[in-house]
Amino acid sequence: MKNISTLIFLLALGVFSFTKELTQYVSYTVQKGDRVEKIYKKFLLPLNNENYEYFLKLNTKKTDKNLKLMLNVKYKLPILKLKESELEKFLRSIINEDSITFVKTQIIEYNRDINTRGLKENKTEIWIPLYLIKNYTEQIQNLPTTNISSKKNTLARNKLYFPFYGEDVKIKVKSNLLSDYVFYLISGHGGPDPGAIGIYEGQELHEDEYAYDITLRLAKYLEMNGAKVYMITIDTIDGIRDDKFLTPSYKEVYYGGVVIPQNQKERLELSAKILNELYLNEIKGKKKHHISINIHLDSRSEEEKIDVFFYYQENNEDSKFVAESLRNTFEEQYNKHQPGRGYRGTIETRNLFMLRNSLPTTVYIELGNIRNRNNQIRFIERNNRDALAKWICFGLIKYAKLKKTPKSNKIK
Ligand SMILES: [Zn+2]
Repeated sequence: MKNISTLIFLLALGVFSFTKELTQYVSYTVQKGDRVEKIYKKFLLPLNNENYEYFLKLNTKKTDKNLKLMLNVKYKLPILKLKESELEKFLRSIINEDSITFVKTQIIEYNRDINTRGLKENKTEIWIPLYLIKNYTEQIQNLPTTNISSKKNTLARNKLYFPFYGEDVKIKVKSNLLSDYVFYLISGHGGPDPGAIGIYEGQELHEDEYAYDITLRLAKYLEMNGAKVYMITIDTIDGIRDDKFLTPSYKEVYYGGVVIPQNQKERLELSAKILNELYLNEIKGKKKHHISINIHLDSRSEEEKIDVFFYYQENNEDSKFVAESLRNTFEEQYNKHQPGRGYRGTIETRNLFMLRNSLPTTVYIELGNIRNRNNQIRFIERNNRDALAKWICFGLIKYAKLKKTPKSNKIK
């Protein structure tokens, strides 16, 4: 009886006004300084278009298209509340048999994170963010879309498509050295996956946060040199951060606001798919060169100090050439800034998913061991993060210059 379950579901969503019962949604009373983005961050909801639209729909009389909030007023969030005992039955009524286990796992993990944050008073409740079930239910997908056209929302949306460096940060283009280039930057992990975790003075260092900050700084330098840049992993709240300890979060999404899956294989496949789609679209345009850079921090035993090193794509001369240019630049920069230190970063090839499955020329960078005390300084000091980004940019400029030089003139 699909129709009946549809009806029940629509009732639960409050789409029909048969019920005035509001308790099915998690609600939140607005405090001073709250914005929708801040509330979403707190409740671990990704800042994607759907979630904005849900918010508008759920709170039609209390907000406007600018998502303005009234102090001390209760707002509904796009999270359904159920008794734990009802979860299974509820999921069966809306989701295909094959997907139930997957969705249920995601919901349970979400609730575990929410419980850790102490947000739920009644722990026998189970919370279901609509975004976790929307792909499985036509009913939600077909919710009439609100016409979001205000400036604020355009801004919020822009953050899903353009590198977001921080409120009011504008980039000035200073050279056209990379104006013929498109870069697709993928900072490792993010969303539900923190990547490797190191401990420094009792604080957790999450790979995804540090990789993101460095990648974002790199994006800035590339844009300053005229390049077009896509960030495949996106954080719509954190711009470039100067703190030593970058607060761990799970709010990153993929380009365009796509939710990052929990499952590692799906996560990689989806990022490659998004990257390749952007690339296939870009090559129809004017830009001649396309490079994808994956940025990671490695995790090894605490004692192991490692220099920045690079992986290139097997059988791709260009990828090897990019890796070489980066490596040589790091060597030059270390010699310049820390003479006598020496630099032992390597380039090699490796059978990695993103190297195999990315269509543009791709290089994979490992920035250091997140568990090694000495390497950790490379990440927690903002000047070091900035230098890493700058040097990667220098390396790419070096590559671009060599690429312009006829082959016979290349320095062997
Ligand atoms: Zn990693």
